[in-house]
Amino acid sequence: MKTLKNILIGVILLSGCNPTNHMRFDLSRLEPWQKNLFIEAGNYWNMSIKDDKNSKNAVYLGTVQKPSIAFTNNFYSEDEDNIFYDIAFDKEEMWNDCSKDRNTEGYDFFEISKHELGHVLGKKHSENPKDIMYHYIAERCKNE
Ligand SMILES: [Zn+2]
Repeated sequence: MKTLKNILIGVILLSGCNPTNHMRFDLSRLEPWQKNLFIEAGNYWNMSIKDDKNSKNAVYLGTVQKPSIAFTNNFYSEDEDNIFYDIAFDKEEMWNDCSKDRNTEGYDFFEISKHELGHVLGKKHSENPKDIMYHYIAERCKNE
């Protein structure tokens, strides 16, 4: 029993050392439904995301250079010890919770959140259209 207990503690410590397992993001500029979907998208990558207004990692609706509809920016703190993440969803586009209505117009906030969080985790783009990290992912609620 003693060995098992030690192993379990070891696992907890290890995961605690990985900054990508538990991340704080300032989600205060998102609408409540967007906040919930973004946190849920973290589960896809086994990330636990906490909403923290004081975090330097931020998610918001902003200006995104076409043809992209969302963008993840990594930037470094002055001492370059820390990387911070900025995830912008294009404010000019329509975003929706597609799980509520597949017939609605707009982009799938949940699927695109998963893709952008993949970038936070250092995932590279994929050539496979079925992969969440596919280059041209532009998941819409309605599949034409
Ligand atoms: Zn991408």
